[in-house]
Amino acid sequence: PLPSELFAPERLNSAGIDLSDPLVRAPLMVRLTALEAKHPIAAPIIGGKTLKGSKVPVTAPFDRSITVGHVVEATPEAVAQAVTLAHDAQPDWDAAGVDVRADALEAAANLYEKHTDELLSLCVREAGKTVPDAILELREAVDFLRYYAVEARRQFGPADPLPGPTGESNTLTLHGRGVIAAISPWNFPLAIFTGQIAAALAAGNSVVAKPAGQTPLIAARAVELLHQAGIPGDVLNLLPGDGKVGAALVAHPGIGGVVFTGSTNTARSINLTLAQRTGPIVPLIAETGGQNAMIVDSSALSEQVTRDVVQSAFQSAGQRCSALRVLYLQDDIADGVLEMISGAMRALTIGDPRKLSTDVGPVIDAAARASLQKHSNELSGAVVCRLDLPVGQGNFVAPAAFSIPAISALSQEHFGPLLHVVRFAAENLDAVIDAINATGFGLTLGVHSRIDTTIERIVARARVGNIYVNRNQIGAVVGSQPFGGEGLSGTGPKAGGPHYLARFATERTLCVDT
Ligand code: NAP
Repeated sequence: PLPSELFAPERLNSAGIDLSDPLVRAPLMVRLTALEAKHPIAAPIIGGKTLKGSKVPVTAPFDRSITVGHVVEATPEAVAQAVTLAHDAQPDWDAAGVDVRADALEAAANLYEKHTDELLSLCVREAGKTVPDAILELREAVDFLRYYAVEARRQFGPADPLPGPTGESNTLTLHGRGVIAAISPWNFPLAIFTGQIAAALAAGNSVVAKPAGQTPLIAARAVELLHQAGIPGDVLNLLPGDGKVGAALVAHPGIGGVVFTGSTNTARSINLTLAQRTGPIVPLIAETGGQNAMIVDSSALSEQVTRDVVQSAFQSAGQRCSALRVLYLQDDIADGVLEMISGAMRALTIGDPRKLSTDVGPVIDAAARASLQKHSNELSGAVVCRLDLPVGQGNFVAPAAFSIPAISALSQEHFGPLLHVVRFAAENLDAVIDAINATGFGLTLGVHSRIDTTIERIVARARVGNIYVNRNQIGAVVGSQPFGGEGLSGTGPKAGGPHYLARFATERTLCVDT
């Protein structure tokens, strides 16, 4: 076991905002409404300078007639320019020492909190997050900044001497790898975007960041705040654009590593590019998709299962990598639990994420909507419960639950509010765990049981990165539940955990004859 002091007890997680307090809630909603008049522009930021170019509108996922802002996409020349500047700046950033880097990250955490309203407004309008989800997102981003600052001070400070013969001094120190290409998804456009950058910078790297094509505005604002906090302009560069910009960045021989969060297929494509390009052999730190299950046996408490299933499958419109996709219910309780889950689903409000009454917002774009809609239509014969949709121009998908025979019936991750249910007999528990393992994914697993030996059996046999027992399976907390999976779910980094920074570093041994 890891000693608890590795988890930085001197650092407190961000307090967030208490929406249950009407004196907090009402003024916040007024301020967020006022911010809807702001229409920012995201453009490449290279060496601290914002580039000009033709602007493309960024529309709101909940209403495509609303333009949230505009984006200027990066050109191939901008990619090369950003990598060259970052490459030249990295040695000084590494040599500046861990205190300079950690101080800047902590200053950025404070600035993020100071600009809470603006960041929440962008998360809601550009990414379609509900207000409570946006608050969680900001908290996580702030937590990453503070956690990696504290961890960097612990791990990248002066080296302790290693044992050796008299007359010899041996030390081992950690250093940045060079330029890290940071490629992030739209589903945590602030938290994951910030977490990747913070870890890379804390470890002494410079960064060229490529946010998801759908969420450039949040990313650009975050980079401005990071620069304001003291990160030099050439040490952190931003390249808004689509997957082609990401591919060009990864192919550049000047990068020293890639941190990627997104789909398994894109991770494969990046791996291929890295293998084929010229330049040094560099690592890919990949956090990818899941086919996450929950196993519920007949000893579980139905009310608790209902609450945790609905949260795990439908919060954030199911657009969390940790979200529940396949619910395994022991057959003798399945009918009763499904009736309760259907009832709880029917109480969900789908719609405009700017309203506090909304539980389930839109999915990110029309392509995601079409793909989820197709899957939902194909399973029409197996519907357990499917909700109605609001009318309008949003990218909404009806939250639904379907019966399927086994997890193997799903050939891919369906990244939205669609839940699949499988019934199992108690004597087949091991086969259920083996079937979940056989998907090759290994991100999150939920377990609901009151029987210790059953819980232990599942925990021992399951090959997943994060297991949650008798609770929901989303919302990993930085420093408490290091997050990340294995197999098709990634190369094994644990974001928000004590070993994460080492993945961004090289180790150097110094032996001096004294
Ligand atoms: P995605 O399509 O793989 O995109 C992720 C990022 O990669 C985006 O910035 C994308 O740019 C870029 N990209 C696309 N093609 C590329 C290429 N050939 N080379 C370099 N970069 C490229 O994933 P997504 O749809 O944004 O995110 C959802 C996925 O992320 C789900 O599978 C989810 O499970 C996973 N996820 C995993 C975790 C985790 O911690 N394990 C956390 C969150 C999300 P464009 O978007 O502009 O094309």
